[in-house]
Amino acid sequence: MDKCALCGWDDPPCTEFSNRDVYHVQCPRCGEYVITDEALLDFDPLTGFLKENRHLLSAVARRSWIHKNRLRIDSKLTEDGSEFKAKILSQCPQRTQEKADYILSHIVERSSHPGDWVIIDMANDYPLFFCRNREELSYFLQFLKNTGHIRDTGEMTPRKRVLLEPEGWRRVEDMQRPNFESKQAFVAMWFDGQLDSAFRDGILALENDTGFRMLRIDMKQFNEKICDHIIAEIRRSRFVIADVTGHRQGVYFEAGYAMGLGLPVIWTCHENQVKECHFDTRQYNHVTWKTVEELREKLKDRILATIGRAGEAARSNRLGEEARPA
Ligand SMILES: [Zn+2]
Repeated sequence: MDKCALCGWDDPPCTEFSNRDVYHVQCPRCGEYVITDEALLDFDPLTGFLKENRHLLSAVARRSWIHKNRLRIDSKLTEDGSEFKAKILSQCPQRTQEKADYILSHIVERSSHPGDWVIIDMANDYPLFFCRNREELSYFLQFLKNTGHIRDTGEMTPRKRVLLEPEGWRRVEDMQRPNFESKQAFVAMWFDGQLDSAFRDGILALENDTGFRMLRIDMKQFNEKICDHIIAEIRRSRFVIADVTGHRQGVYFEAGYAMGLGLPVIWTCHENQVKECHFDTRQYNHVTWKTVEELREKLKDRILATIGRAGEAARSNRLGEEARPA
Protein backbone atom coordinates (compact mmCIF):
# COMPACT_ATOMS: atom_id res chain seq x y z
CA MET A 1 0.00 0.00 0.00
CA ASP A 2 1.69 3.23 -1.09
CA LYS A 3 -0.79 5.64 0.53
CA CYS A 4 -3.16 5.48 3.52
CA ALA A 5 -6.59 5.01 1.93
CA LEU A 6 -8.25 7.17 4.59
CA CYS A 7 -5.99 10.24 4.74
CA GLY A 8 -3.46 9.93 1.93
CA TRP A 9 -0.40 9.60 4.20
CA ASP A 10 2.53 8.34 2.09
CA ASP A 11 3.65 4.81 2.57
CA PRO A 12 2.30 3.86 6.01
CA PRO A 13 3.76 0.71 7.62
CA CYS A 14 1.40 -2.04 6.62
CA THR A 15 1.21 -5.77 7.32
CA GLU A 16 -0.57 -8.14 5.04
CA PHE A 17 -2.31 -10.93 6.92
CA SER A 18 -1.66 -14.53 5.94
CA ASN A 19 -4.93 -14.94 4.05
CA ARG A 20 -3.68 -12.07 1.84
CA ASP A 21 -6.84 -10.06 1.55
CA VAL A 22 -6.75 -8.09 4.78
CA TYR A 23 -4.24 -5.36 5.68
CA HIS A 24 -3.25 -4.07 9.06
CA VAL A 25 -2.24 -0.41 8.60
CA GLN A 26 -0.35 1.89 11.00
CA CYS A 27 -0.94 5.51 10.06
CA PRO A 28 0.30 8.47 12.16
CA ARG A 29 -3.00 10.26 11.46
CA CYS A 30 -5.58 7.48 11.44
CA GLY A 31 -3.97 5.24 14.05
CA GLU A 32 -3.97 1.48 13.46
CA TYR A 33 -6.84 -0.01 11.53
CA VAL A 34 -7.71 -3.04 9.42
CA ILE A 35 -8.93 -2.86 5.82
CA THR A 36 -9.89 -5.56 3.34
CA ASP A 37 -8.52 -5.77 -0.18
CA GLU A 38 -12.04 -5.40 -1.54
CA ALA A 39 -12.70 -2.24 0.50
CA LEU A 40 -9.40 -0.73 -0.69
CA LEU A 41 -10.68 -0.85 -4.28
CA ASP A 42 -13.53 1.52 -3.31
CA PHE A 43 -11.05 4.30 -2.57
CA ASP A 44 -9.61 4.36 -6.07
CA PRO A 45 -11.26 6.28 -7.57
CA LEU A 46 -13.30 7.86 -4.78
CA THR A 47 -16.99 8.07 -5.61
CA GLY A 48 -20.38 8.13 -3.88
CA PHE A 49 -20.71 8.94 -0.18
CA LEU A 50 -17.04 8.04 0.44
CA LYS A 51 -15.91 11.03 -1.61
CA GLU A 52 -17.42 13.52 0.85
CA ASN A 53 -17.02 11.46 4.02
CA ARG A 54 -13.63 9.77 3.80
CA HIS A 55 -12.24 12.03 6.53
CA LEU A 56 -14.87 10.68 8.95
CA LEU A 57 -13.48 7.16 8.52
CA SER A 58 -10.08 8.59 9.37
CA ALA A 59 -11.57 10.30 12.45
CA VAL A 60 -13.39 7.20 13.70
CA ALA A 61 -10.32 5.01 13.04
CA ARG A 62 -8.12 7.39 15.07
CA ARG A 63 -10.71 7.72 17.87
CA SER A 64 -11.00 3.92 18.01
CA TRP A 65 -7.26 3.53 18.14
CA ILE A 66 -6.80 5.86 21.11
CA HIS A 67 -9.10 3.42 22.90
CA LYS A 68 -6.96 0.52 21.61
CA ASN A 69 -9.55 -0.76 19.15
CA ARG A 70 -8.73 -1.25 15.48
CA LEU A 71 -11.55 -0.16 13.20
CA ARG A 72 -12.27 -2.84 10.59
CA ILE A 73 -13.12 -1.42 7.19
CA ASP A 74 -14.71 -3.88 4.79
CA SER A 75 -16.63 -3.44 1.56
CA LYS A 76 -19.96 -3.50 3.39
CA LEU A 77 -18.91 -0.28 5.11
CA THR A 78 -17.53 1.35 1.98
CA GLU A 79 -20.39 0.39 -0.36
CA ASP A 80 -23.50 0.40 1.80
CA GLY A 81 -24.59 3.93 2.77
CA SER A 82 -26.84 2.75 5.59
CA GLU A 83 -24.04 0.68 7.14
CA PHE A 84 -21.77 3.72 6.93
CA LYS A 85 -24.43 5.87 8.54
CA ALA A 86 -24.99 3.43 11.41
CA LYS A 87 -21.34 2.71 12.16
CA ILE A 88 -19.52 5.92 11.26
CA LEU A 89 -21.80 8.91 10.77
CA SER A 90 -23.72 8.24 13.99
CA GLN A 91 -20.50 8.74 16.00
CA CYS A 92 -19.54 12.07 14.39
CA PRO A 93 -20.60 15.56 15.52
CA GLN A 94 -22.63 17.10 12.67
CA ARG A 95 -23.46 20.75 13.39
CA THR A 96 -20.67 23.30 13.70
CA GLN A 97 -21.58 24.14 17.30
CA GLU A 98 -21.55 20.44 18.15
CA LYS A 99 -18.09 20.15 16.64
CA ALA A 100 -16.76 23.16 18.57
CA ASP A 101 -18.15 21.63 21.77
CA TYR A 102 -16.64 18.29 20.87
CA ILE A 103 -13.19 19.86 20.30
CA LEU A 104 -13.46 21.58 23.67
CA SER A 105 -14.34 18.39 25.48
CA HIS A 106 -11.48 16.54 23.77
CA ILE A 107 -9.06 19.21 25.00
CA VAL A 108 -10.49 18.62 28.50
CA GLU A 109 -9.91 14.88 28.05
CA ARG A 110 -6.26 15.61 27.35
CA SER A 111 -5.78 18.19 30.15
CA SER A 112 -4.48 16.53 33.27
CA HIS A 113 -5.49 19.55 35.40
CA PRO A 114 -6.64 23.18 34.98
CA GLY A 115 -3.66 25.18 33.73
CA ASP A 116 -2.23 22.23 31.78
CA TRP A 117 -0.99 23.00 28.25
CA VAL A 118 -2.22 20.46 25.70
CA ILE A 119 -0.07 19.85 22.64
CA ILE A 120 -1.86 19.46 19.32
CA ASP A 121 0.09 18.19 16.32
CA MET A 122 -1.67 20.23 13.63
CA ALA A 123 -0.55 18.04 10.70
CA ASN A 124 -1.62 14.75 12.22
CA ASP A 125 -4.15 15.32 15.00
CA TYR A 126 -7.03 16.85 13.02
CA PRO A 127 -8.84 13.47 12.66
CA LEU A 128 -9.02 13.33 16.47
CA PHE A 129 -11.24 16.41 16.32
CA PHE A 130 -13.37 15.16 13.39
CA CYS A 131 -11.86 17.84 11.12
CA ARG A 132 -11.34 17.40 7.38
CA ASN A 133 -7.83 18.87 7.41
CA ARG A 134 -5.52 21.10 9.45
CA GLU A 135 -7.17 24.27 8.08
CA GLU A 136 -10.52 23.26 9.53
CA LEU A 137 -8.91 22.47 12.89
CA SER A 138 -7.12 25.87 12.87
CA TYR A 139 -10.45 27.57 12.17
CA PHE A 140 -12.15 25.94 15.15
CA LEU A 141 -9.23 26.61 17.49
CA GLN A 142 -9.26 30.28 16.48
CA PHE A 143 -13.02 30.42 17.11
CA LEU A 144 -12.62 28.87 20.58
CA LYS A 145 -9.88 31.39 21.31
CA ASN A 146 -12.03 34.33 20.14
CA THR A 147 -14.90 33.23 22.37
CA GLY A 148 -12.61 33.05 25.41
CA HIS A 149 -12.74 29.27 25.80
CA ILE A 150 -9.07 28.52 25.13
CA ARG A 151 -5.73 30.31 25.06
CA ASP A 152 -2.73 29.55 22.84
CA THR A 153 0.88 30.65 22.81
CA GLY A 154 0.46 32.62 19.56
CA GLU A 155 3.35 30.73 17.93
CA MET A 156 2.91 29.43 14.37
CA THR A 157 4.50 26.07 15.08
CA PRO A 158 3.43 22.66 13.74
CA ARG A 159 2.78 21.59 17.33
CA LYS A 160 0.28 24.01 18.85
CA ARG A 161 0.00 24.45 22.61
CA VAL A 162 -3.46 25.29 23.95
CA LEU A 163 -4.82 25.78 27.44
CA LEU A 164 -8.42 25.74 28.60
CA GLU A 165 -9.66 29.05 30.03
CA PRO A 166 -12.15 29.08 32.96
CA GLU A 167 -14.92 29.82 30.42
CA GLY A 168 -13.95 26.61 28.60
CA TRP A 169 -14.14 24.52 31.78
CA ARG A 170 -17.50 26.13 32.54
CA ARG A 171 -18.84 25.31 29.08
CA VAL A 172 -17.80 21.66 29.39
CA GLU A 173 -19.35 21.38 32.85
CA ASP A 174 -22.56 22.94 31.52
CA MET A 175 -22.63 20.49 28.64
CA GLN A 176 -22.59 17.63 31.11
CA ARG A 177 -25.73 18.88 32.81
CA PRO A 178 -28.96 17.18 31.78
CA ASN A 179 -31.24 19.12 29.41
CA PHE A 180 -28.61 21.77 28.86
CA GLU A 181 -30.46 23.09 25.78
CA SER A 182 -33.98 22.96 27.24
CA LYS A 183 -35.92 26.22 27.48
CA GLN A 184 -38.53 24.90 29.87
CA ALA A 185 -38.71 25.38 33.63
CA PHE A 186 -41.00 23.09 35.61
CA VAL A 187 -42.99 24.82 38.35
CA ALA A 188 -43.93 22.66 41.34
CA MET A 189 -46.41 24.40 43.66
CA TRP A 190 -49.67 24.08 45.51
CA PHE A 191 -52.70 24.46 43.19
CA ASP A 192 -54.65 26.69 45.50
CA GLY A 193 -56.51 29.89 44.74
CA GLN A 194 -54.35 31.77 47.28
CA LEU A 195 -51.29 31.14 45.14
CA ASP A 196 -52.78 31.95 41.74
CA SER A 197 -51.40 35.47 41.64
CA ALA A 198 -48.01 34.27 42.91
CA PHE A 199 -47.87 31.95 39.92
CA ARG A 200 -49.36 34.34 37.37
CA ASP A 201 -47.59 37.57 38.35
CA GLY A 202 -44.58 36.25 40.24
CA ILE A 203 -43.44 33.25 38.17
CA LEU A 204 -45.21 33.18 34.79
CA ALA A 205 -44.36 36.86 34.36
CA LEU A 206 -40.65 35.91 34.30
CA GLU A 207 -40.94 34.21 30.92
CA ASN A 208 -39.90 37.41 29.16
CA ASP A 209 -37.08 38.22 31.57
CA THR A 210 -35.51 34.77 31.51
CA GLY A 211 -36.57 33.27 28.18
CA PHE A 212 -37.77 30.12 29.96
CA ARG A 213 -41.27 28.75 29.45
CA MET A 214 -42.71 28.31 32.94
CA LEU A 215 -44.73 25.11 32.95
CA ARG A 216 -47.19 24.34 35.72
CA ILE A 217 -48.78 21.00 35.01
CA ASP A 218 -52.41 22.08 35.52
CA MET A 219 -51.97 24.32 32.49
CA LYS A 220 -52.44 21.29 30.26
CA GLN A 221 -55.46 19.03 29.83
CA PHE A 222 -54.79 15.35 30.16
CA ASN A 223 -56.65 12.14 29.62
CA GLU A 224 -53.84 9.99 30.99
CA LYS A 225 -52.62 9.87 34.55
CA ILE A 226 -51.29 13.26 35.53
CA CYS A 227 -48.31 11.74 37.34
CA ASP A 228 -46.81 10.31 34.13
CA HIS A 229 -46.94 13.77 32.62
CA ILE A 230 -45.31 15.35 35.63
CA ILE A 231 -42.43 12.90 35.36
CA ALA A 232 -42.15 13.40 31.60
CA GLU A 233 -42.20 17.20 31.86
CA ILE A 234 -39.65 17.32 34.68
CA ARG A 235 -37.38 15.09 32.59
CA ARG A 236 -37.40 17.56 29.73
CA SER A 237 -36.95 20.72 31.84
CA ARG A 238 -33.74 22.68 32.37
CA PHE A 239 -34.54 23.29 36.04
CA VAL A 240 -37.39 23.22 38.59
CA ILE A 241 -38.90 25.99 40.69
CA ALA A 242 -40.35 24.46 43.86
CA ASP A 243 -42.56 26.80 45.85
CA VAL A 244 -43.19 24.95 49.10
CA THR A 245 -45.78 27.42 50.46
CA GLY A 246 -48.60 25.20 51.77
CA HIS A 247 -46.14 22.29 52.16
CA ARG A 248 -47.81 19.87 49.77
CA GLN A 249 -46.18 16.45 49.51
CA GLY A 250 -46.40 16.54 45.71
CA VAL A 251 -44.13 19.60 45.58
CA TYR A 252 -41.45 17.89 47.68
CA PHE A 253 -41.77 14.76 45.54
CA GLU A 254 -41.31 16.71 42.28
CA ALA A 255 -38.33 18.66 43.63
CA GLY A 256 -36.69 15.48 44.94
CA TYR A 257 -37.25 13.71 41.63
CA ALA A 258 -35.59 16.59 39.76
CA MET A 259 -32.62 16.59 42.14
CA GLY A 260 -32.19 12.87 41.55
CA LEU A 261 -31.93 13.58 37.83
CA GLY A 262 -29.25 16.18 38.52
CA LEU A 263 -31.48 19.14 37.60
CA PRO A 264 -31.06 22.37 39.57
CA VAL A 265 -33.96 23.17 41.92
CA ILE A 266 -34.76 26.72 43.05
CA TRP A 267 -36.68 26.61 46.33
CA THR A 268 -39.12 29.41 47.15
CA CYS A 269 -41.48 29.90 50.11
CA HIS A 270 -43.75 32.56 51.59
CA GLU A 271 -41.96 34.17 54.52
CA ASN A 272 -44.66 33.19 57.04
CA GLN A 273 -44.16 29.51 56.29
CA VAL A 274 -40.40 29.16 56.14
CA LYS A 275 -40.27 27.77 59.66
CA GLU A 276 -42.53 24.90 58.64
CA CYS A 277 -40.33 23.80 55.73
CA HIS A 278 -39.62 20.10 55.69
CA PHE A 279 -36.60 19.32 57.84
CA ASP A 280 -34.67 17.70 54.94
CA THR A 281 -34.89 20.75 52.71
CA ARG A 282 -34.21 23.52 55.25
CA GLN A 283 -30.52 23.41 54.35
CA TYR A 284 -31.32 24.77 50.87
CA ASN A 285 -31.22 28.49 50.39
CA HIS A 286 -34.90 29.38 49.87
CA VAL A 287 -36.04 32.49 48.05
CA THR A 288 -38.43 33.92 50.64
CA TRP A 289 -41.18 36.31 49.64
CA LYS A 290 -43.96 38.38 51.21
CA THR A 291 -45.48 39.97 48.13
CA VAL A 292 -45.85 38.81 44.56
CA GLU A 293 -43.56 41.65 43.41
CA GLU A 294 -40.87 40.47 45.82
CA LEU A 295 -41.20 36.89 44.55
CA ARG A 296 -40.87 38.08 41.00
CA GLU A 297 -37.77 40.23 41.62
CA LYS A 298 -35.90 37.78 43.86
CA LEU A 299 -36.70 34.78 41.70
CA LYS A 300 -35.59 36.60 38.59
CA ASP A 301 -32.23 37.41 40.20
CA ARG A 302 -31.79 33.83 41.38
CA ILE A 303 -32.59 32.34 37.95
CA LEU A 304 -30.28 34.69 36.10
CA ALA A 305 -27.47 34.17 38.62
CA THR A 306 -27.60 30.38 38.87
CA ILE A 307 -29.12 29.18 35.58
CA GLY A 308 -28.74 32.13 33.21
CA ARG A 309 -31.09 33.17 30.44
CA ALA A 310 -32.56 30.33 28.34
CA GLY A 311 -30.24 29.41 25.49
CA GLU A 312 -27.69 32.00 26.58
CA ALA A 313 -24.68 29.70 26.74
CA ALA A 314 -25.50 28.24 23.35
CA ARG A 315 -26.10 31.70 21.85
CA SER A 316 -22.92 33.32 23.07
CA ASN A 317 -20.97 30.39 21.68
CA ARG A 318 -22.48 30.33 18.24
CA LEU A 319 -19.98 30.54 15.45
CA GLY A 320 -19.38 33.95 13.99
CA GLU A 321 -20.75 35.86 16.98
CA GLU A 322 -18.68 37.92 19.34
CA ALA A 323 -17.90 36.56 22.78
CA ARG A 324 -20.10 37.77 25.59
CA PRO A 325 -18.77 41.08 26.92
CA ALA A 326 -17.02 40.75 30.28
ZN1 LIG B 1 -4.23 7.74 7.47
